[in-house]
Amino acid sequence: MRQAISGYHQNSEEHWVAELSCGHFQNVRHDPPLSTRKWTQTQQGRDLMMGFELNCEKCDDGAPRDSA
Ligand SMILES: [Zn+2]
Repeated sequence: MRQAISGYHQNSEEHWVAELSCGHFQNVRHDPPLSTRKWTQTQQGRDLMMGFELNCEKCDDGAPRDSA
């Protein structure tokens, strides 16, 4: 299910995690060459991706929300 990005935080390893409108969190780590998400590395990039829809597999699995 596609869900919009509603916020961000960094996890304990300082990788960026997107907070989706459904209440699930999704890791958006920038870890080249495996995954390149350069937009996570700047405030401007993250701001631009606000509202962008990511595919949330946790919704598809019916997983409980990650946020309170
Ligand atoms: Zn979700």
